[in-house]
Amino acid sequence: MDRQQLLEQVKADGVLFVSLQFTDIMGTIKSVTIPVERLARALELGVWFDGSSIYGFARIYESDMFLVPDVSTYRVLPWSSPDRLRARIICDVHGPDGEPFKGDPRSVLKSAVGRAAAQGCHYQCGPELEFFLFNNNGDVAIRPVPNDVAGYFDFSPRDNAQVVRSDIVKALNAMGMGVEASHHEVAAGQHEIDFEYADAVTAADNAITFKYTVKAIASTHNLLATFMPKPVFGSNGSGMHVHQSLMDPAGTNLFYDPDGQFNLSTIACQFIAGQLHHARALAAVVAPTVNSYKRLVPGYEAPVYICWAQINRSAMIRIPRGSPAQEASARAELRCPDPSCNPYLAFSVMLEAGMDGIRNRLVPPDPVSDDVYEYSEVELARQGILTLPGTLGEALEALAADPVVRGALGDHVYQGFRRARLAEWDEYRIQVTDWERKRYLETL
Ligand code: GLU
Ligand code: MG
Repeated sequence: MDRQQLLEQVKADGVLFVSLQFTDIMGTIKSVTIPVERLARALELGVWFDGSSIYGFARIYESDMFLVPDVSTYRVLPWSSPDRLRARIICDVHGPDGEPFKGDPRSVLKSAVGRAAAQGCHYQCGPELEFFLFNNNGDVAIRPVPNDVAGYFDFSPRDNAQVVRSDIVKALNAMGMGVEASHHEVAAGQHEIDFEYADAVTAADNAITFKYTVKAIASTHNLLATFMPKPVFGSNGSGMHVHQSLMDPAGTNLFYDPDGQFNLSTIACQFIAGQLHHARALAAVVAPTVNSYKRLVPGYEAPVYICWAQINRSAMIRIPRGSPAQEASARAELRCPDPSCNPYLAFSVMLEAGMDGIRNRLVPPDPVSDDVYEYSEVELARQGILTLPGTLGEALEALAADPVVRGALGDHVYQGFRRARLAEWDEYRIQVTDWERKRYLETL
């Protein structure tokens, strides 16, 4: 679609407002809404804004930035009322010199994708976002009361959330996301909706779109949708597993080799080896909140140990069994990411780690075949299996020590990311919790 076609489409759709969107380093969606009459001008000249008021973007003296709408991302928001009909367009952020701004996560991902493409590797991602639906208990507090009673894949007439999920699927399809399946997840109140894989930039656009669509539709049912990685102690948390492969320019899957282990090519194994090698630093970006590390614990189908496997859900990378059409479906599923990440930055570091494995012809260790949660410390040491960071603080240290992963973010984003996440970690570290009072107050 070119600009002229977009303007005609907007008119035909009866759109009155257009939200121009981008994300900050933390993954928060930012948007400026313009009346439709201003769209032609925005497409031609961009929309200027003050970058210094967006976290991690710019200092006060270098603050002028402008948004360049990516017309291919035009979508009408299906939940907006017809008398205020709104569409969104995702934008790239440019600096006053007209160049893509180095602090824009989408531009960071475009650079990483471009570097890999120059080597003939086109990165494809299929993220699977899990989430919880909670009852919204009045205006005093939102209490984590799961609003249904079903479990994994359950079909139950008591699953009230089925209705909500169907509405979400309809909205996602209207947003052009190609939903493949939706199901109840393991925990009460937990769900997953899977959509088509795509090139990494589109997949990251989709992940962002997914989150606000789910939230918008849930709120029309007076429910709260959350992508918090571990909202309930003792229950499964919410992951954002990412299925990944590389394609050559002709669209052939470079991960497939019918003679390889699990039908994987040498390139696929090197890519996997790269992600295993950089896993501890990757964690800081793909699982970037204090709460992320409450999910990455044994026993809840989230990874803890840095290893790979064919079917094992306790491994960090899993090779899903494909359908008979193996060629198209050869892929590696990275299981440590969670939906609190900024998907643009997450995919950037994941790609860079994998490409580093290819560059250095890394060989992955033997895959594991058991449930690694059950391994003793001795067994882990014998097999040389390391663990993911146990806290955000530990992950940030690993990131600081890994120039490849840091390099994928670029200095601007890395410094802003580190400042913000370190502050988050420091604030958390000094809290005195109920758990501590229960445990120590009387006995000490
Ligand atoms: N909820 C699990 C996680 O935190 C994953 C469950 C699954 O395998 O789909 O990663
Ligand atoms: Mg799942």
